[in-house]
Amino acid sequence: MHFALINNNRVEAQPQLKGLCSCCSKPVIAKCGTRKIWHWAHKNKTECDNWWEPETEWHRTWKNNYPAEWQEISLLNERTSEKHIADVQTSHNLVIEFQHSHIEHQERTSRERFYKNMVWVVDGTRLKRDFPRFLKGKKNCFENTIFYATDNPKIFKVDLIDWCFPTAWLESSVPVIFDFRGDGTMDDPEGLRNTLYCLFPQIGRYARVVEISRTAFINTTTNGEWALRVQEFINHYREQDKIEQQKQQQTISHTSNKVTYTWRGIPLIGGSREYKRRLWTPNKSNRKGRR
Ligand SMILES: [Zn+2]
Repeated sequence: MHFALINNNRVEAQPQLKGLCSCCSKPVIAKCGTRKIWHWAHKNKTECDNWWEPETEWHRTWKNNYPAEWQEISLLNERTSEKHIADVQTSHNLVIEFQHSHIEHQERTSRERFYKNMVWVVDGTRLKRDFPRFLKGKKNCFENTIFYATDNPKIFKVDLIDWCFPTAWLESSVPVIFDFRGDGTMDDPEGLRNTLYCLFPQIGRYARVVEISRTAFINTTTNGEWALRVQEFINHYREQDKIEQQKQQQTISHTSNKVTYTWRGIPLIGGSREYKRRLWTPNKSNRKGRR
């Protein structure tokens, strides 16, 4: 942890210091070695917050984009007495969780349920293949497959989302920001690592990915505009999907024999039956074996 309590003040780790954990109130000692960043650790291996992961430089840098008094906030669910430390909670009650390690589906869902108003920031450099895989998907935007261009150059409709992002994040109920910059030392000839990529909760056929600058993300989460903008964006694409679906249904109900049924511009063998099958088959079964 970055902070511990000494005489009720939040203090950073310094050699020889002892303090109390702000979550469980048990003693913590300052770890000030050369290998890991200076931090506080529990004296006994107690089960404090089982969601807590050892911090990296990446975590610390991200957290420090926000005021110290918003970092490491203990939150309690009064009904269940469950207590967890949020990486950042803004003054508008938005929780920002920075995730480097792999996370299991169940834990991700529990955290989303616990924090509710939250956004994930994921270290997209944990596995070597994460960035190349994303780039491959994104570059398909020129041919308008996988990443489909929209009328806004920073917004994409994405098909086959599991070709672009780690599966652990695909079904998240809250926005997930992918940060591919890592510690800033990685190859980036096209300057694509500096931008953040926000994956929105998937509603309907396509996922939505939006490019957002670091400054814009930090500013809107700090000034409280983030939640409103997210809601507006989701409402907007929900509306668009509805219109599109209605258009597709009109095509199906057109019963003339002359109608050629196409799928992504390619005429379908099997006509309307095949078209309906594809339309109503959930995305996942279409993807089997194509990863
Ligand atoms: Zn503790």
